[in-house]
Amino acid sequence: MQSWFTFELDGEVCRVERESTHGTLASYLARLDPCFAHFAEHDALLAPRLVVLGTHEGDRYRFRIVDAGLMLMPMLADRQIWTPEGIRNAEPEHPVNLAFQEGSFECSGERLDTIIALTFEGYYRPDLRRQGQVNDQYDAIVTRTAHVPAIREAAVQVFASTEQLRHEAARKAERSGDESTVWTGKKDIFGDRFTRQLFRLPESRSLQYVDGKKRRFFRPETLVELIKLNREYPTAAFIAGGTGLGHFAAGDEGGTDLISLEAVKELNTVVSTEDHWEIGGAVSLTQTAEHIGRECLAFNKVLRRFASRPVRNRATLGGYLATAWASGQLAPLLMALNARVRLISADGERDAPVSQFYAGKGRTILQAGEIIRGIVIPRNTEHALSTRGVTSRLCDAYTVAPRRTGCAPYATGGFALELRDKRIAKAWVAYSGIDDSPMRVREAEDFLAGKNWDEGTMIETLGILNRSVEVTLPGNGGATTGYLKQLVGTLFQKFYHQHPRPGSLRPESLTATGEFAKLEEPFFLTPRT
Ligand SMILES: Cc1cc2nc3c(=O)[nH]c(=O)nc-3n(C[C@H](O)[C@H](O)[C@H](O)COP(=O)(O)OP(=O)(O)OC[C@H]3O[C@@H](n4cnc5c(N)ncnc54)[C@H](O)[C@@H]3O)c2cc1C
Repeated sequence: MQSWFTFELDGEVCRVERESTHGTLASYLARLDPCFAHFAEHDALLAPRLVVLGTHEGDRYRFRIVDAGLMLMPMLADRQIWTPEGIRNAEPEHPVNLAFQEGSFECSGERLDTIIALTFEGYYRPDLRRQGQVNDQYDAIVTRTAHVPAIREAAVQVFASTEQLRHEAARKAERSGDESTVWTGKKDIFGDRFTRQLFRLPESRSLQYVDGKKRRFFRPETLVELIKLNREYPTAAFIAGGTGLGHFAAGDEGGTDLISLEAVKELNTVVSTEDHWEIGGAVSLTQTAEHIGRECLAFNKVLRRFASRPVRNRATLGGYLATAWASGQLAPLLMALNARVRLISADGERDAPVSQFYAGKGRTILQAGEIIRGIVIPRNTEHALSTRGVTSRLCDAYTVAPRRTGCAPYATGGFALELRDKRIAKAWVAYSGIDDSPMRVREAEDFLAGKNWDEGTMIETLGILNRSVEVTLPGNGGATTGYLKQLVGTLFQKFYHQHPRPGSLRPESLTATGEFAKLEEPFFLTPRT
């Protein structure tokens, strides 16, 4: 057991000794230097204190924007943190600093720091390539209290310059045949002070840290070590992204020993086969989207309404499922995707469909000491569908909330239909925010199987949904029972109207406007040769 660890803070090695296992980076920074005093006033929802975390994730290095109030200190061991102050002082001429030096952004200096940190992550993101993704970068953080068009304009210029750099690097790399390392961000194409330090980071190593109050923080590297530790310290809590800090009695007093899942290799991998993905239980929501979002568009769509990028960068799929929030937006989609949860403990392994993983009243089937090892999501490629005799699969999810982002949703519906020509072979109809756990509506699914997918079927299904779905959850944000019941039907109607019917020549979309076409525009257009 060690009582110290080091991490890099704004380019300097920082040694931490006997610091509380449950103390956050925000409170540490506030004590460290008066220039960080503002980190003391932290509110994850209204005013997150953003910093950039440098990490080594498997075979790639990444800058990830995170909330310092949601990072426990031992999570930082062997990692790198850049504060907005550090970014400004280290390279005043960095394109991100220059972009926000002049211009009227109509916000406080602290909010501008937040914007700089968000833009810094965006600048190095290899997947940020289209205009529409700018919203994804700033949503739920940059609010009406700032001049959003001006921020957007400055950001677009920064992201376009980095995209141009990437295209040039890819052209050079073509000669040696390794241009894919440019597009996946495995290669340092910037060669600046920040990336040079990032690319020197070691992979997350095992850590056994004890604080001044004898609380322990373990960071094992393998499943075997994890299960052994759990046996030895049965009262210790598992911690993944740590965004549900309430679970761990965060603060300087109290709190149990913690076993972090962040460095466990088996929980941090994404396996892609021809017919499924298996996402490790400790893979973050952002990383999951990077792996499956291109093929599974509905996943990206749901994530855009889920918290904010700094939260998604830390929250894991395993942590999301274990939290079992009745209104969580991902569960209905995972059900519609026919996903399964794989569990592991010292007693062995088992798995269950997502719908059977929830046990009502905020509970799950997880037993003490059991870990979510992974989530298996079937891939519905043409080949996979044709081997099942299915001609097409429609799948989508819809969330309704008081605002687009930054608030608890009222309800979410996730729907899927597998069609053999015009006839429905199998249906998935799932909701969250209606009952005390996310749920599937079997009566509606059974009714749909074997019917033609047309307006008559849709209308009859509405009647079944009305009869069989009972709203038992007090509505978030003052939603009444009657309103939630109405949403059950209208979300399903939306699914019917926004997808092509079998036989229709081109997809109909209620939202396909010119605006959307613009959002799809890349920042950088390859010159035609
Ligand atoms: C500002 C903010 C906004 C949010 N907005 C939304 C939202 O819009 N929609 C939504 O659905 N949720 C939202 N959340 C909640 C968020 O989804 C959860 O906090 C997050 O998913 C938990 O994941 P984590 O990896 O951080 O888990 P942790 O916080 O690390 O852990 C949470 C719990 O899960 C257990 N656990 C974690 N991983 C595993 C595993 N692999 N096996 C077994 N047990 C495990 C832990 O022991 C702990 O009890 C929000 C949270 C915050 C802070």
